[in-house]
Amino acid sequence: MAKLDNLIEQAQQKPHSLAKDDLLYLLQLEDKGELDRLFKGAYALKSRYSGNSVYLRGLIEMGNVCAKDCFYCGIRKSNTKPKRYQLSLEEILNTARETFEKQYGSLVLQSGEIESEKHTLFIAQAIEAISSLTQGKLGLTLSLGEQEENVYKLWREAGAHRYLLRIETSNPNLYAQLHPASHSFSRRLECLRTLRRLNYQTGSGVMIGLPGQTRQDLADDILFFQNEDLDMIGMGPYIPHRDTPLGQNIEFTESFKQTQLLMGLKMIACTRLQLHDVNIAATTALQALHPQGREKGIKAGANVIMPNVTETRFRADYQLYENKPCLDENAQQCRNCLTMRLAAIGEKISYGVPGDPLHYKNRNSGQAT
Ligand code: SAH
Repeated sequence: MAKLDNLIEQAQQKPHSLAKDDLLYLLQLEDKGELDRLFKGAYALKSRYSGNSVYLRGLIEMGNVCAKDCFYCGIRKSNTKPKRYQLSLEEILNTARETFEKQYGSLVLQSGEIESEKHTLFIAQAIEAISSLTQGKLGLTLSLGEQEENVYKLWREAGAHRYLLRIETSNPNLYAQLHPASHSFSRRLECLRTLRRLNYQTGSGVMIGLPGQTRQDLADDILFFQNEDLDMIGMGPYIPHRDTPLGQNIEFTESFKQTQLLMGLKMIACTRLQLHDVNIAATTALQALHPQGREKGIKAGANVIMPNVTETRFRADYQLYENKPCLDENAQQCRNCLTMRLAAIGEKISYGVPGDPLHYKNRNSGQAT
């Protein structure tokens, strides 16, 4: 009892103050009362840095064409089931305009991984068009995978200022088990470091509860976020997809869902306690496991929600995992639903602000934690 409260207090006082053993201890908690104290401790820190409000990022799932073949992902190249699509510039702009008008404050462009000149230029054009349409007032995040430095540079200069690239797991051996031999952990890490060097607000994250992943791995993931000095963390539970090599033999039972959800929430809480001033997303994967999964994520220390704003007719073909929620909800319905859900937990949406991570501001002014 005393140990838990001491650790929480110590972590609240000073960032980076938990050692690996402390993280391991927090990640193994199972007792309901102890978990409540952990989540409350992390939520108090979230409130210290973000008050009782949450930032929104409208997520446009721009296309599902992908050159990668990750063993866990529903849009992997070898899966022939999804109908491959790519939104046109006009479709992207219409959604961006709607997102801007609805005061979401920021937008994420996400797609499968494509490296080609045509794609690079198309994205640059989309970024420029969105920036001019919104007079640079809409935060713009890219989540377009591994690219060469000159591509990241071009997109940065075109007006994108945030990038999300999950490392998926910080353990290179586990990474190798989850990907074909042609996929490289070190290249992904190099990309992440390049993004930071190019002065993007840089985000990464991992999947939680992967087959073969240990608690040690998860504690190391949090220390990885710390060492890479990230601004934003987007992580979520692994959810099997039956049309993937990794998902075929996993039964999606209630107890599996609960285990995944709980580990996801513990990771959010420990990351908030360790990193303090970063933005942490309560990802949609949490909601796929529990109807109030995202709210639980906020109550465990997250401060960002990324509602899907993609035109509904494309959503069924962008199923990275099964059971993906909100396949048929438009932006207005989504906004109303979220406002209500957040009010129920005493939180509100910060409308119309880009919501830059404090960590990014602090590290640029020499005050980063
Ligand atoms: N291709 C881009 C982004 C699209 S995928 C990139 O590589 O960055 C976005 C994220 O979805 C991935 O980084 C991965 O962490 C997550 N994801 C993929 N399959 C998943 C699954 N089965 N369960 C949970 N998350 C998954």
